[in-house]
Amino acid sequence: MCRRTHQDMGKIQMVDLVSQYKNIQEEVDNAILNVVGSAAYIRGSEVKGLEEELAAYLGIKHVITCGNGTDALQISLMALGLKPGDEVISASFTFIATVEVIALLGLIPVMVDVDPSTFNIDPKAIENAITDKTKAIIPVHLFGQCGNMDAIMEVAKKHDLYVIEDTAQAISAAYTNNNGETKKAGTIGHIGCTSFFPSKNLGCYGDGGAIFTEDDEIAEMLRMVANHGMKKRYYHEVIGVNSRLDNLQAAVLRIKLRLLDNYKGARNAVADFYDNAFINMEQLSIPERNPQSSHAFHQYTLKCNGIDRDGLKDHLAARDIPSMVYYPVPLHMQDAFINNPSFKQTSLPITEDLAKKVISLPIHTEMKEEQLILITETVKEYINSIS
Ligand SMILES: *Cc1c(COP(=O)(O)O)cnc(C)c1O
Repeated sequence: MCRRTHQDMGKIQMVDLVSQYKNIQEEVDNAILNVVGSAAYIRGSEVKGLEEELAAYLGIKHVITCGNGTDALQISLMALGLKPGDEVISASFTFIATVEVIALLGLIPVMVDVDPSTFNIDPKAIENAITDKTKAIIPVHLFGQCGNMDAIMEVAKKHDLYVIEDTAQAISAAYTNNNGETKKAGTIGHIGCTSFFPSKNLGCYGDGGAIFTEDDEIAEMLRMVANHGMKKRYYHEVIGVNSRLDNLQAAVLRIKLRLLDNYKGARNAVADFYDNAFINMEQLSIPERNPQSSHAFHQYTLKCNGIDRDGLKDHLAARDIPSMVYYPVPLHMQDAFINNPSFKQTSLPITEDLAKKVISLPIHTEMKEEQLILITETVKEYINSIS
């Protein structure tokens, strides 16, 4: 057997959506052509089918699809009837969408710190940030595993707050609560939101999103807000938005939903390989697993301890291995928030430290072992070269 060269194994990518498509090409192509031929482009049977199948998969009563994950969050806040000046607590260590929509609606984002090992929002920090204006909490299940939902739900109950789970990165993960009940990410709080952006774990071929809830009244409001504030056509009860998932995208998602657990397995195999390679290296911390949550591994994120993170990134890039920093600037330090007079900036030491130390390695459903060997060897090569 000859040693394969870098060329043979294909270019390493953070996410390889082309290879994934090729493995399901015939089914996907047929589904797309069916929709195109049917001319049912908006609110067609594929959307309805996806909503039902996703509800069954998640074990939740209502799934409402919408235009993207950011809309899902915005529609959720609108449906809960929050008023300008109300405070919503979320993390600073997340993608901007989570907090952007709070500010966009004239609500006050209150960003708190995260747990340094799991990267997820710290329930104690939530409790400390609660005021008489606080109305909701948006925990983000960052990188693919659930935050400490038992503690978050307890704080929410005590202070009568809504919980909107941002599960854009964690669809398919499941959380087992202190009573031993297991629920899918996004079905634990009052509302769950997800994104079908192409690179997400359940991604379509454009934009898409969905909202989940068990509550009939909230579901009715969500549907109404997402559809111009109307239940009956041309009778508008509230100010809403236009946010819908294309029937074409729903057709693709129905196929990929059936593969989602396999995809999760493939991502976990990559994560396990990385864990084994790095577990004994003091210069790197592998991502800590929350024992109460399974992990969907949207990202595999290491922390650099006392070594130059950007040096590692450059070393990988010089060998054609991509890596990413999620996220280089904490949200509370972004100009968009600093320059916003209604936003009171607090320092968040853990988040600020993480922004300097984290690095995410390629992880996707079609990774080959020789790619993983090359990546881990190249990381080790860098560590050895500086120590
Ligand atoms: C991707 C993402 C979103 C937004 O989803 P879009 O579909 O791109 O609007 C929201 N929150 C988190 C944590 C995300 O990763």
